[in-house]
Amino acid sequence: MSLSSYPQKPGVYLFRNSNGKVIYVGKAINLRNRVSSYFSGLDLGPKTRLLVSQIAKIETRLVESELEALLLEAALIKKYQPKYNIKAKDDKSPLYIKVTREKVPLVTTARQIGDGSIFGPFPQARTVKMVLKTLRSIFPYRTSRHHQKGKCLYCHLGLCPGPLLSNKEKKEYGRSVRLLRQFLGGQKKSVLRALEKEMKAGAKAEDFEKAAQIRDQILAIKIVTSPRRKVSDYLKNPNLVEDQRRQELRELESILGVAVNTIEGYDVSNLVGKQATGAMVTFSAGEPVKSLYRRFRIKFSARPNDLVMISEVLKRRLAHSGWPLPDLILVDGGKAQVKIGLAVLKEHNFQIPAIGLAKRMEEVVIFREKEKAWVVRRLPQDSPARKLLERVRDEAHRFARTYHLLLRKKMSML
Ligand SMILES: [Zn+2]
Repeated sequence: MSLSSYPQKPGVYLFRNSNGKVIYVGKAINLRNRVSSYFSGLDLGPKTRLLVSQIAKIETRLVESELEALLLEAALIKKYQPKYNIKAKDDKSPLYIKVTREKVPLVTTARQIGDGSIFGPFPQARTVKMVLKTLRSIFPYRTSRHHQKGKCLYCHLGLCPGPLLSNKEKKEYGRSVRLLRQFLGGQKKSVLRALEKEMKAGAKAEDFEKAAQIRDQILAIKIVTSPRRKVSDYLKNPNLVEDQRRQELRELESILGVAVNTIEGYDVSNLVGKQATGAMVTFSAGEPVKSLYRRFRIKFSARPNDLVMISEVLKRRLAHSGWPLPDLILVDGGKAQVKIGLAVLKEHNFQIPAIGLAKRMEEVVIFREKEKAWVVRRLPQDSPARKLLERVRDEAHRFARTYHLLLRKKMSML
C-alpha cells in the first residue's frame, strides 16, 4: 500500500510489527500527512526511528471528528497496550477516566486501573481534561459523593446533576451516566439512538421540558462530533446551543425585516373529517413554551377544508385578549394558507406578520405588505432560520395530531 492511498481524513492509525503485534497507536486530523511524516526521512528522534524500523503493517480507522479520534485512540491503546505508547509515558503513570459503580456514580480521573469502568489510558492529561469538560456539559455528572443541600456552582453551570434527593432523580442520573459510558466507549450511534427514543417518549407523554432537554443533548453530541467543528470550539463556547438559537432568530429577522422573539405556529389536523382539530404552539427565543400551547376543537356541519379551519382557529385565538401576542405567525402551507391568515389578522386589526412554510420544498412564503408582493424563499438545508421554522412547524403538527388522536379515542369509548 503506497502512502498516497491513505485518506486525507481524520482518524486513528495503528502500526503493527512483523509478528502482527500492535506497537503504536496514534491519531491524526489528516491520516495521510501524519503517516507519511514517519517515512519522510526528516529528522526523527531515536525512539521514533526505532519504532519506524519495526513497522511491518499500517492500519487506519476513519472517524468523523476530533473527539471521536481521541476516544478511539484511547480505546485502542487500552486494548492493545502498544509498547511505544506505554513506553513514551514511562516518566509518569498514564491518566484514565474512571466511572464508579455506585447508585450515584462519580466520574473522575485516575492514575491506575481500579474498580469501576475505566477508559484510557489517554496519552496526554490535557486530552482527558478536554474530553471530560466537553462531555460534562452534555451529560452533567458528579465528581464527589457529597453534595450540598441545594444547587452548587456546577449545577448552575449545567455541569452537575444536583443533590439527587429522590429515587427518580437518582435513576435518571444513572441512565445519563450509562449513556456517557457508552459514548466514552465509542458507541456514539447507539447513544444517539437511545436519546432519540427517549425524546420521542417524552414528547408522547407531553413532557416537553424533558423532550427539549434531550433534543439539546442530541444537538450537542452532533456538534462536538461534527467534522467541521473542533472540540475546542465547543469548549470555548459552552453556550453553543443558545447561540445557535440566537443565530436562527437573527437570520429570520433579516429575512423578514422585523424583530422576532416569539413565534406562534399553527396546524390543523383533519384525518377523518369528523374530528377536526387545530393546534397552536408558542416558541420564545427559539424554545417551545408549553404553557402557551393551545388546542382548538373545530365543529362543522359540512366537511371542513384546511383554509376554513385555519381561519376559524386564528379568529378564536385572536378573540383571547389575555393571551400574549407573538411577533410572528407561522402557518403550515403556502400562499393560500398565508392569505387566509393575513385576512383574519387584518379583519381584526392586528399587525402581526404571518408567513407559511410549504411542505414540499420547504419554502418560506412571505407577503411583503409594503410592496404588496409575494416572496418565496427557498432556504438552504443548513440555514438556521429554516431549522427554527421547521421546529415550530413540526411541533405544531405533532401537537395537533396528539389532540386529534385523543379526541378519536374519546369518541370510540362513547
Ligand atoms: Zn451540583
